[in-house]
Amino acid sequence: MNSNQTNIDRRSFLRTTGIFAAGAILAPKIMLGQTKPDGPVQMIYKSAATAKINVTKLRGNIYMVEGSGGNIAVLDGPEGKLLVDAGIDVSKEHVLTAFNSISKNPIKVLINSHWHFDHTSGNEWVHKAGATIISQDITREHLTKKIYQPEWDYTFQPLPKAGLPTVTYKKEHIHHFNGEKVHVKIYQPAHTDGDSSIYFPNADILHVADTFWNAYYPFIDYATGGSIDGMIKAAAYNVARTNNHTIVIPGHGAIGNREHLVQFHEMLATIREKVSALKKQGRTLNEVIAAKPTASFDPKFGGFVITGDFFTKLVYTGV
Ligand SMILES: [Zn+2]
Repeated sequence: MNSNQTNIDRRSFLRTTGIFAAGAILAPKIMLGQTKPDGPVQMIYKSAATAKINVTKLRGNIYMVEGSGGNIAVLDGPEGKLLVDAGIDVSKEHVLTAFNSISKNPIKVLINSHWHFDHTSGNEWVHKAGATIISQDITREHLTKKIYQPEWDYTFQPLPKAGLPTVTYKKEHIHHFNGEKVHVKIYQPAHTDGDSSIYFPNADILHVADTFWNAYYPFIDYATGGSIDGMIKAAAYNVARTNNHTIVIPGHGAIGNREHLVQFHEMLATIREKVSALKKQGRTLNEVIAAKPTASFDPKFGGFVITGDFFTKLVYTGV
């Protein structure tokens, strides 16, 4: 795969979505009407249909598949493939090609890290390909309902029955597969109220769902129980449970490590303090955005869907 080509495609996608995300603050109803064909969700769908899919071997027989919504982890072996997240359905052909480039072993298990469409809209085809789908109770519940997401002004439809998890857990789940003791464990509400981490102990690889976007401001889904304080706690927890050997798979962004988690936690905590202090002074949302509390972090974290201004709004909502 030509990596230059991939980078160019990604940059142009990020630029486009960045513009729409910035617009969400200024005129959400005008810019993001869900019937419009060019809202951010539609843009992400459109981009996913043609996105280049990258496969990276991490350690042991675990791979990261990147390019269709959230990062997908693949544990491959003689028992078949275990996936963490299913990407976006319109990428099916490209994602399948990527899986087959790892091996011809069938897909057997899919674990959903949380309910968001960019991690679960591929559930139905993955199930039809042979996978049992596993998630936290709350995540399954969300997937059975219509959910209006005000930040995107978009209503997500329930998944078809074939895309719903059939095995659920409340707090944790252990899955013995291909010699790994895969440990799935819930977070307290953070990015949503139903995030789970997935840890592969032999390989020392941790998939942290969307509690961590590597070098990007994260989305916080208040509509389904997320919060900035929950995000900060999850970030601290991620730091505490990793060491310098651990490979970290973020929900979005490049393969990470403990140092990236530390930087992400510091960014969240610093911006939260700044925004909270301004709000306590009685400043309105627009005044706080104008004060640019994210400015020193924008060059590093502002290059994806969530701009500094949008992230300020997300933090302001929760302090
Ligand atoms: Zn998400």
